[in-house]
Amino acid sequence: MYKAFLIKYAEIGVKGKNRYLFEDALATQIKYALKKCEGEFQVRKTQGRIYVDALSEFDFEETVEHLKRVFGISAICPVVYVEDEGFEKLCEDVISFIDSVYPDKNKTFKVQARRARKNYPKESMQINMDLGEAILNAYPEMHVDVHKPDIMLNVEVREKIYIYSEIIPGPGGMPVGTGGKAMLLLSGGIDSPVAGYMIAKRGVKIDAVYFNAPPYTSERAKQKVIDLAKIVSRYAGPVYLHIINFTDIQLYIYEKCPHEELTIIMRRYMMRIAEAIAEETECLGLVTGESIGQVASQTMHSLMATNDVCSMPVYRPLIAFDKQDIVEISEKIGTYETSILPYEDCCTIFVAKHPVTKPSLKVIRRHEGNLTEKIDELVKTAIETDELLIVSDNE
Ligand code: ATP
Ligand code: MG
Repeated sequence: MYKAFLIKYAEIGVKGKNRYLFEDALATQIKYALKKCEGEFQVRKTQGRIYVDALSEFDFEETVEHLKRVFGISAICPVVYVEDEGFEKLCEDVISFIDSVYPDKNKTFKVQARRARKNYPKESMQINMDLGEAILNAYPEMHVDVHKPDIMLNVEVREKIYIYSEIIPGPGGMPVGTGGKAMLLLSGGIDSPVAGYMIAKRGVKIDAVYFNAPPYTSERAKQKVIDLAKIVSRYAGPVYLHIINFTDIQLYIYEKCPHEELTIIMRRYMMRIAEAIAEETECLGLVTGESIGQVASQTMHSLMATNDVCSMPVYRPLIAFDKQDIVEISEKIGTYETSILPYEDCCTIFVAKHPVTKPSLKVIRRHEGNLTEKIDELVKTAIETDELLIVSDNE
């Protein structure tokens, strides 16, 4: 029955003269999200609105599910188009629309007409009244409620007449691409994919870096991260995933530094390398899945020690989230099942029995001094042998 969707957007409506940039980004993301859907679609911008027209048969549920992934959409309204063949015919169309969408007529309603085509013979107020009357005649069980109707029946008179009443909530946020780009430190865990999702939700495009430690970590662990990036790409668009071979750096730190400081020093090198790649690729910040107190390397002291090596802003969208809240988001966005696959990651292998929870910056810096001989060369090699994958779930 439905032929189109009216896309409503909230925050981006208020962006003044840059509004078109936001609308263009939203249209681009909608096209990306629909690529893999059955059916052919056209995304159309008109008079401050975005419509998705179905040009062929399509799968309603699948299309809605994909549209729900597009940040910047506040609501998705499935629309029926009818030809303008006189008011009488419109009344019939609206009455049969109500019948198919609301089998139970025990409901209140309000008609909200909009005459976008000014040569239509009735004014909006008149359409409201006359249509309302026709509906009441057809379905005496229904009642009008102008304040809090169960059904808000929208009728927009354009070239054709659009009828819609259902409002499916979208994800909110801002269209990806309107907020610059950031480098996500993506591990195989639960947290970092969620962190990437949350930053992307604010309109930021996401590149990602994964620190791999073959042969201590397996090909499967790497594939898991690629799969996670793929799921994130459903929301964030194609992800440029940098895979850094971190083994030699890890072994060197293991050889030269106190084992209870391994994780912190390792994390500092991850941040340094991530920042170097971020600078090269015009990212404006780093993103991690850290949350205060979750593990020894995420106490306030540890975060300070990790942060110490970065000059770019480090965004930690999960900083004040409980694990359970993070798990809930990961279930909602579809990363959870992949995240909990039990493949080793590079941190778990070199982890100490009793890692420091209150590292002293001074001490950490001094111990990093043990690495002077080879570390610059190792970091340089790691960056030069960066393996870049472009990951997308939609093409
Ligand atoms: P996650 O669930 O995201 O792996 P975690 O609870 O396991 O987080 P840590 O292992 O301490 O926490 O890592 C903290 C953050 O550091 C991660 O959220 C991620 O952003 C980054 N990180 C950790 N390991 C890696 C890695 N191998 N490659 C890239 N980033 C990593
Ligand atoms: Mg981890």
